[in-house]
Amino acid sequence: MPISEWFGKNKNDNNGEGRAEKLVIPDGVWLKCDSCGEVVFHREFERRFKVCPKCGFHAPLGALERIAHLIDLGTFNEIATGIVSCDPLDFRANKSYTEVVEAARAKTGLAEAVVCGSGEIDGRPVAFLVMDFSFIGGSMGSVVGEKVTELFEWAADMRRPVVSVCASGGARMQEGMYSLIQMAKTSAAVGRHASTGCSYISLLCHPTTGGVLASFASLADIIVAEPKALIGFTGPRVIEQTMKQKLPKGFQTAEFMLEHGQVDMIVPRADQKETIGRLIDYTTRDVG
Ligand SMILES: [Zn+2]
Repeated sequence: MPISEWFGKNKNDNNGEGRAEKLVIPDGVWLKCDSCGEVVFHREFERRFKVCPKCGFHAPLGALERIAHLIDLGTFNEIATGIVSCDPLDFRANKSYTEVVEAARAKTGLAEAVVCGSGEIDGRPVAFLVMDFSFIGGSMGSVVGEKVTELFEWAADMRRPVVSVCASGGARMQEGMYSLIQMAKTSAAVGRHASTGCSYISLLCHPTTGGVLASFASLADIIVAEPKALIGFTGPRVIEQTMKQKLPKGFQTAEFMLEHGQVDMIVPRADQKETIGRLIDYTTRDVG
């Protein structure tokens, strides 16, 4: 529906000449918040990196927007590039796996569901990885696992802290077991990086689930979450059916996870860059 229709007068309204008045508002100036339904300035929404100024709802951000949000302008250099998925299982559902990957590439402009690189956060050099949920649900297949592993290995060699930003549905089912072993592989890379004494800070965004949560995303020294993000291994419906129990209210939200010790802090998007920078200072020692 064009946004101008939200402001359209009642069909029966007219100006007395039997002709309905038309309110002309250019589309794209306003948008409707997905959470509270309020109409907000598009520019204001973008300026806040897609946080609703009325209710504080954190709308999803893509990988490139996350880089723009957290990494100093002009400092990001992508690493672990040129790795492409193969189709080890010759997987086919409605579409072949190859077609699914190609469609995700065309839609997002990204090569895969994760972007890795070096950059600076308020002048602090970091190794940075960010997942994009719009690329096949931010799922981790063999390429995502390899890229994440290469980033942690690079950070270990360079003695740099790692900052990760995750939004993922978990392991990529189209690669089966090849996806699942990425959990062990990335976890080992995190372990090697940790052994150098460098810190690792993980930011969990809506949603972070499955094999990504159960591997590198939750192995950080400090785990930060975005407000109201869904964080959990398996969806609540499956858990309820398996355990035959009603789950508590707010189960698997960032707030619930904070209360139960799975998350260290919840930080709104407006404060994330400054807070992550400060956490790097707290956790960094001379590891020459
Ligand atoms: Zn809102």
